[in-house]
Amino acid sequence: MKYFGILAVGAMAVASTACHNVQNEVKSDADFAAELKLADYRPVSVFKIPVSDIRQASFPVIDMHSHSYLHSVEELEQWVRNMDENNIEKIVIHTGTYGEEFDALYDLYKGVSDRFELWCGIDMSSWGTPDFPAKAVAELERCWKKGAKGVGELSDKGLGEKLSRKVKEPGLHLNDDLLVPIFSKCAELGMPVNCHIGDPVWMYEDIDEHNDGYMNASKWKIDMSQPGILDLYELVATMEETCVKNPQTTFIACHFMNIGHDYDYLGQVLDRHPNLYIDNSARHLESSATPRATKKFYEKYADRIVFGTDNNPSPTMYRLQWRILESEDEHFYSPSQTYHWPLHGIGLEKDVLEKIYRINAQKIMR
Ligand SMILES: [Zn+2]
Repeated sequence: MKYFGILAVGAMAVASTACHNVQNEVKSDADFAAELKLADYRPVSVFKIPVSDIRQASFPVIDMHSHSYLHSVEELEQWVRNMDENNIEKIVIHTGTYGEEFDALYDLYKGVSDRFELWCGIDMSSWGTPDFPAKAVAELERCWKKGAKGVGELSDKGLGEKLSRKVKEPGLHLNDDLLVPIFSKCAELGMPVNCHIGDPVWMYEDIDEHNDGYMNASKWKIDMSQPGILDLYELVATMEETCVKNPQTTFIACHFMNIGHDYDYLGQVLDRHPNLYIDNSARHLESSATPRATKKFYEKYADRIVFGTDNNPSPTMYRLQWRILESEDEHFYSPSQTYHWPLHGIGLEKDVLEKIYRINAQKIMR
């Protein structure tokens, strides 16, 4: 008791003398703590535990979800060097474009076509006329002849489908009958379709002190008061119906279909639809919060998950992927952290890693 008392007095003494210089204003520990925002919180792990330094993936990787993050040939050359250093064999670029815009992007990557695959969007220029979808099918075939190997990224956050990067059609969801001829042409041409459905669950919850993904949710909040908007699980239902209506087409729901907080349900959806895969892109921070549950899910659905990044392709971003998927490191933080929780390595076994890094992708890409 006496010992505790001394400690407490000592702590109070420190509190009363320590100060923080915040924007030229000197603050005590107590005032600083009371005013510190979660968004400004940058903890540093104190644990003296193993830290791995995985410089490249264990197997040559096919990154199934990226975008054209570059503006010059020099940046493209740098990207290829990063790929070599990280053991990335190939990257799929979701352009979401068609027509001249797709052709220009395709030509930019021509010199490195063994390292990049370009996927196109859907031509919406004749939407609302009787020419749709025949015109969209014809443009899809033209992009395929040019070199498009798949379609993506199509996105529906509740109000309707963004079938190309720029064009949004309110009320048009993936399960619409008008899209069936387009998706069946994808099947005929061997073009998989990458779909972004909804957003992580905390974007649908109130932005308050109970929101587990507060730091991200406050930025990406979905306004559910918009008339006709579908919620997350209603969107998952449209994805399921899309798989049923287009049984020959391969779909990849990206970002764990945005229901990575609910692995049981996600597994049931995968069980129901053999033509459906998921990618793990841009959900490394979320899935690393629950390393044991995530590992079990990866093991059970090792044949249905493909690897993707969807982030700016910097060397640190790639290394963070390997650390999370391959190591068993605990309680670490990343400079690009967008959550208040520490990260943990999932420690996947080699056979699971190989399936996720490349075997499943090869199967889909034939
Ligand atoms: Zn994306």
